Amino acid sequence: MKLHILGTAAQLPTRTRNQNAYLLEWFHEGILFDPGEGTQRQFILAGISPGKVHRIFISHFHGDHCLGLPGMMQRLSLMEVPQTVKIYFPVEGQPYFDALSIASKYTHRIKFEIHPLKAGIVEETDTYRIEAFSLKHSTPVLGYRFVQKSQWRFNQTLLDAYDLDGPRVGELEKNGVIMHHGKQLIREKLSYQTPEKIFSYVLDTGMCETIPPLIQDADCVLMEATYLHTEQALADEFMHMTAEQAARYAGDNRVKKLVLTHYSERYKDLNLYEKAVEKIFKNTHIAHDFDIVNI
Ligand SMILES: [Zn+2]
Ligand SMILES: [Zn+2]
Repeated sequence: MKLHILGTAAQLPTRTRNQNAYLLEWFHEGILFDPGEGTQRQFILAGISPGKVHRIFISHFHGDHCLGLPGMMQRLSLMEVPQTVKIYFPVEGQPYFDALSIASKYTHRIKFEIHPLKAGIVEETDTYRIEAFSLKHSTPVLGYRFVQKSQWRFNQTLLDAYDLDGPRVGELEKNGVIMHHGKQLIREKLSYQTPEKIFSYVLDTGMCETIPPLIQDADCVLMEATYLHTEQALADEFMHMTAEQAARYAGDNRVKKLVLTHYSERYKDLNLYEKAVEKIFKNTHIAHDFDIVNI
């Protein structure tokens, strides 16, 4: 998994920070989160084709999280991308989605699949699970948890030692047990389990009880940190997080890497963020536009 940071501003963009947009490379798909204004251009500046997007997840319908949606939908249509583009958002936001999706005249040339969501499991297969969690904000918000499930993989050294290859490996995988050169071979004894990989997306929210289950044991959490502790009163009033609160959540929930974003325009110098969290949660990445985070 790889996360491309395409914008890190909250409501007001600055000279160096565009509104939100994040692209997650997930299996062979591109997953775009919260395309704010200017997202299409951020793709170009990052050197990424907008055509890579397979799914779009909207956390909520404040403008900094969705005003780039019409541009992205129209761009994907113009490019006539072969994939069906799936779009997910909190069900309460349907009127805003409807308005954005016909914001200007254009010719639909591709298929969009629309998924209004409530909290719960969004999709589950043998290899992954996507879950949505309700967060606490001035409008309904969903946070998203992407889990790559643990998989069995054959140990190549053991396969070589038993002189096992080609279709016989397929048989062992399918049946669990085979006889080979007079020996009984058991799938689990020749395999190991890859660890689960988890990415959590947490924008925008104040502190709430759904954050721990949303982020626990995650390899990477992208979390909003609109304010620093000095503006705690504003964070409480507008239901946002401070960098210090985000860092404490990460530390309390066995998160491996925390990535902060969605900064108020009042903070010109992001070194203030580095200083605010360095003693609370060491493995914090203060995101800048166009950073790439390996997960
Ligand atoms: Zn926002
Ligand atoms: Zn918001």
